[in-house]
Amino acid sequence: MPEPNDRQHAYRMLVDPGTPPDERYPGFTIAEPDAASHAARVGEVARRLEALFAAEPDLQAVTVWVAGTAIGVATATWYRPEPADGPPPEGPVLHRDGDRALLPGHSSRYVLFRYHCAACPRPLYSPAPEPPRCPVCDAATTEEP
Ligand SMILES: [Zn+2]
Repeated sequence: MPEPNDRQHAYRMLVDPGTPPDERYPGFTIAEPDAASHAARVGEVARRLEALFAAEPDLQAVTVWVAGTAIGVATATWYRPEPADGPPPEGPVLHRDGDRALLPGHSSRYVLFRYHCAACPRPLYSPAPEPPRCPVCDAATTEEP
């Protein structure tokens, strides 16, 4: 298992370095993907984020947690192929040349759940079918209807 700083480094291209962490953002928590290569693990998390922003049109940003490590803030403009307004997406992950596996368009099969931590004000999204521990305060979470 990589150390937390290694994990932040490994997934840094999924988040916007110009958007500092803010407790007002909802959370997105995911276990370390079980994929053979680093690129595949990053791509897996990228597709989950893409699915999240596709499913939640009003969502603008989420704090990303991988295996309990805060990675940073992912912003919608990086993950929505056609934002309703603003500049076109310039995400380095989804539109990187030669990395077609990360292109959008195949995210509809990803299931996402919305959880609620009794101690934290913002929702927590996760692909985990069982309520995860809150990555902020480690409390139990419950699924929102
Ligand atoms: Zn919490």
